[in-house]
Amino acid sequence: MTVLQLETPLKDISWLLPQRARQFERFGIATVEELLTHYPKRYEDRRTFDHFPSGESDMPVCVCGTVLGVAVKRLRGGKTMVEVTIEEEMATALSPRLICRWFNVYHVQKMIATGQKLIVFGKPKERGGKLSIDHPEFEIVEGEELSIHVNRIAPIYRLTEGITQRMYRAAVFRALEGLDLPAFRDRLPRDLDATPYGIALRHIHFPDSDADREAARRHLVLGEFFAMQLFVGARRADSVSRPGQNHCGPGALMERFHVGLPFSLTGAQKRTIGEIRGDLAAPRPMNRLLHGDVGSGKTLVALSAMLLCVESGAQAALMAPTQILAEQHYLNCKRWLAPLGLNIALRTGSKRTETAMPLFDHSGARMPGATAGPQIIVGTHALLYEGAGLDNLGLAVIDEQHKFGVLQRARLIGQSTAPDVLVMTATPIPRTLTMTVYGDLDVSTLDEMPAHRGKIITALRDTSKLPDAAAFIRKELEAGRQAYIVYPLIDESDKLEAKAAAQEFEKWQKLLSPLRCELLHGRIDPAEKDAVMEKFRSGQAKALIATSVIEVGIDVPNATIMLIENAERFGLAQLHQLRGRIGRGTQKSWCILISDATDAPALEKLNTMEETADGFKIAEADLRLRGPGDILGTAQSGLPPLKLGNLLDDQAWMRAARAAATRLFQSDPKLDRPEHRPYRDLITSQRKLTLAQIS
Ligand code: ADP
Ligand code: MG
Repeated sequence: MTVLQLETPLKDISWLLPQRARQFERFGIATVEELLTHYPKRYEDRRTFDHFPSGESDMPVCVCGTVLGVAVKRLRGGKTMVEVTIEEEMATALSPRLICRWFNVYHVQKMIATGQKLIVFGKPKERGGKLSIDHPEFEIVEGEELSIHVNRIAPIYRLTEGITQRMYRAAVFRALEGLDLPAFRDRLPRDLDATPYGIALRHIHFPDSDADREAARRHLVLGEFFAMQLFVGARRADSVSRPGQNHCGPGALMERFHVGLPFSLTGAQKRTIGEIRGDLAAPRPMNRLLHGDVGSGKTLVALSAMLLCVESGAQAALMAPTQILAEQHYLNCKRWLAPLGLNIALRTGSKRTETAMPLFDHSGARMPGATAGPQIIVGTHALLYEGAGLDNLGLAVIDEQHKFGVLQRARLIGQSTAPDVLVMTATPIPRTLTMTVYGDLDVSTLDEMPAHRGKIITALRDTSKLPDAAAFIRKELEAGRQAYIVYPLIDESDKLEAKAAAQEFEKWQKLLSPLRCELLHGRIDPAEKDAVMEKFRSGQAKALIATSVIEVGIDVPNATIMLIENAERFGLAQLHQLRGRIGRGTQKSWCILISDATDAPALEKLNTMEETADGFKIAEADLRLRGPGDILGTAQSGLPPLKLGNLLDDQAWMRAARAAATRLFQSDPKLDRPEHRPYRDLITSQRKLTLAQIS
């Protein structure tokens, strides 16, 4: 028999039936490598089986027994049930029996026969004094290859109909025997993990002990993580090597902006501005992530960076994911930066506005080499694709709001002389994600809140408490405070939305009468929206009834109450972002979550909100609740998929892998050295993988 290679196609293997190879191929497994990297989902310790259960259990049991009988029963409604009774080996008349039941699974009765030995895995339930397991995982013990399947820790795989555990396990076993495992080259630097790759590959399928299996998993997970970090590192090395320019003015303009502020900067703001300043001044393009909790003052940092850039004579752009947000950013810029004598433009799909150049520039600031066009351009992400009027772009600030625009970033970075890029997110990013999805970026963290912020108290209540809540809100409003009442968008269609809004508004106006309420939602036209916001900002309106349009950007420090209806309909990050609208002044604030939800995920989400106001903790909880896959979507993230590693549970290993990859790129930035050749190949093969995902 010829020695197998990892690349060998399954159809070329002599001992595998062609029909089986085709079956595996349909399941997405066409090569030896794919066969072996389809890792077990769990293991059964078949050296000693569990005893037959004597009662119900929420923990699955794994038992081995002999089939006493197979019965097929017809149930009402044309359904059938296969009932297999098994008893323990060496059983006495008193030993418990176990019934396995399958409903409408026809192939089972053909496979199982009296007298066979069966391994069964599942949760036993008690019915009428008998113990049974419905739809257990099972395996028939027979044949000459028994040593592969029993008397060992046996791997159990995620498979598809037609491929049995025995078939798959046997193929893996024989493939491992056919490979020259000791000759496998290591895929990890030795200082990261010294287990030989071939051994890890064998032990992940056929461990001799739990310790073996753990060591194998560690090695293979580190391998995946290291490969990912090489990939991210290469992307980073790539963007760093592009020609960039110094886009940093002397800082006088920024200084004037800061001096004019009614507060002083937090230490974290000063630090992050310093980090950005260093990047702007460097002759290579900046690629930086700015993240921090709601209300930590990210806008100020972004504007400071834009001023440094503008002062150097280049343009700065601020891009938001939606039109509403772009408009809000534009208003902010106008309010804060126009007094400095800057020309600011808004460019969204439907709007093009520019502040007039001031007739007299009282400031006396000179913009060396400034172009005639706008110095600051605010728009939606569409700006990236138009590119019009951005010929002198020095800095792009991308406000991502948790939409991971990896491809968009790639597009900007791909320009011939790359502009400096600052990616800004609405809420903190958990460490696992800054290491991976954002792994090619430098990270600035605003981990300090401005001083003298009032505390926020959050309480979860059911709908029956709405009148009490309304009474409480009324008392606060009468004492001079203001409130947001948020309700979830019920329907996207114009008509229904308008109707829901009108109903909500009427309800609250009655509840709070005669205090003045205003209504805000996505369908109100922009001029009216501005008028509504102005009434609220100025304090004329006491309560703002709104959809989640108020999620971002709105800043009214006198608003100290937020009531959120049907709170379970919002995501955790979104709830936190909404809550960030209050607690902006020095007063104590209240957030009331109204919900009748009883399901566990909703309760966990809402309880998290009650327990903590720390955006970093909330971001971690959100990631845990939704899972990285949901948040990222592998194609979106532009990263190779993980088969074994878990971004949340294996974080410490990701850190280690990242450190090792960083060391590698520092010692050999282009991975030119012959001993680093395998790493380069790894990066290339992963690029192919991720490109395949995207297209
Ligand atoms: P976010 O990080 O959520 O985008 P913003 O940039 O909207 O936060 O800032 C929140 C509020 O805090 C704004 O009203 C802003 O003017 C104010 N602010 C920013 N920095 C400071 C500071 N150093 N001291 C006091 N208030 C600040
Ligand atoms: Mg903001």
